Amino acid sequence: MKRSEKKSRPAPAAPRSSRRAAPKTKTRPPARKPERQPPAPRPKPAPGPTKTPPPDAAELYKGYRGAALECLKKFGAKVWSDVVIDSSRGHFEGRVLPRAESSDDQQLVLKIASGYNIGVSVAGITSLKEVGYAVAHYKIPEKKFPFTKGKPLVKLLGTGGTIASRLDYRTGAVVPAFTPGELYGAVPELADICNLETEKLFGVFSENMGKAEYIALAEAVAREIERGVDGIVIGHGTDTMHHTAAVLSFMVRDPAVPVVLVGSQRSSDRPSSDGAWNLIHAVKTAATSDLAEVMVCMFGPTSDLYGLLHRGTRVRKMHSSYRSTFRTIGDIPLAMVTRDRITPLRADYAHRRSDRRCELNPAFDSRVALVYYYPNMDRDIIDALVDRGYRGIVIAGTGLGHVNKPCYPALQRARDAGIAVYMTVQTLWGYVHMDVYETGRDMQRLGVIPAANMLPEVAYVKLSWALGQTDDLDEVKRIMLTPVAGEITDREPTNGYLIFQGGVPEVEAFISEHWK
Ligand code: ASP
Repeated sequence: MKRSEKKSRPAPAAPRSSRRAAPKTKTRPPARKPERQPPAPRPKPAPGPTKTPPPDAAELYKGYRGAALECLKKFGAKVWSDVVIDSSRGHFEGRVLPRAESSDDQQLVLKIASGYNIGVSVAGITSLKEVGYAVAHYKIPEKKFPFTKGKPLVKLLGTGGTIASRLDYRTGAVVPAFTPGELYGAVPELADICNLETEKLFGVFSENMGKAEYIALAEAVAREIERGVDGIVIGHGTDTMHHTAAVLSFMVRDPAVPVVLVGSQRSSDRPSSDGAWNLIHAVKTAATSDLAEVMVCMFGPTSDLYGLLHRGTRVRKMHSSYRSTFRTIGDIPLAMVTRDRITPLRADYAHRRSDRRCELNPAFDSRVALVYYYPNMDRDIIDALVDRGYRGIVIAGTGLGHVNKPCYPALQRARDAGIAVYMTVQTLWGYVHMDVYETGRDMQRLGVIPAANMLPEVAYVKLSWALGQTDDLDEVKRIMLTPVAGEITDREPTNGYLIFQGGVPEVEAFISEHWK
């Protein structure tokens, strides 16, 4: 590993992007129909019922109060009872689940046979019969990963998020609780792919990732690459996974092996959890793929047909609840991954090397803001940042990169205060063009620098990284506008925007049938 010097390190002389087969965006469509995967591995669900009686009588009605508690008592049932209920709404069978303390007191919550949870209003219940009882234990045993000679070595670094979580029935919230070792306990299929070492770096939801975590994570990744692992998987919350993917793309450049961020949109207690498949796909990629880049690995289509690998600087979470939430923006994804194979969708990726190297440059200045412009925005938003000593501002502007005229004086103030101001576009796809309209030209005169087709979050991360290295604004500009990990491309392929995103069944069928 080569550790870059803070402050004095210039941007690389030969950025990776210039070494990649230039921006022809050579695309290679999937050669064959992706075969349907074997049945989804179910993470061993948290509530594994046992015959043990509850240790503490106070636990019997966990979270129930008021009318719901009265109802349970009246019919002689409790939490973890298997019940048969008749109510004015119909007939229900299931297991009584604990309730969140903050929930209402009007419903019993049942886990039904399909695995889904339903609420039954107590007001309409005419009869309730306990037909069984089994207490659930949530703890998944930490399992030591078996060692198989000859299999690749993968390091799983845990940072938290839903993929490392189970449901806390007391609060009703999903809390980070699984260690990476427990994750293996839940997805033993991983042992077919590799030898796995796990390390829990943090246990946070991803909104709590910040400068300290970014640096610790980058250093851990570089350390593992230098140690000679065959690939790295990072378990991470999905909400800000694309920020961290961008951070690592800049802080750990040219990694010798795959660095794969993975998460889960649905927690492991839900039948539709994507955690196990995502983890298997990510581990498969880390262990065996030729793609030595920082990537995000998550569901491609809405089904579990395959995962997609997205370049760390061109990816974004695009849906709050779909499992296929991650999309490559401004480009096409790097590859498709199933349990059995990895199919590159393009040729210009960085290849796996055996030199155990990367270039670690863990610089980050937190005094950078990302401002999402909206009509009527007052200049005082920008003034406040100037007054508070911010050193950089990335604006996500409208259309080709615009803000309203009343903000101009604040932009001028920012420039005079030596603040680096960069423009990106809210449209996400496409480039900033500040020469087309008068507004753009005016803003350039006020020192606002167009950031090509860098995604707003990526430009934010890169500016934080650049300002962490130097105070010299010309040098910052050079770093910002020199592509280092695919964050700026010469053109955006229309097939990326229109086709290669997965998730549209008709388009998928069309591609696999007609594009051989
Ligand atoms: N709120 C969670 C997080 O980002 C969501 C997830 O992991 O999917 O940490």
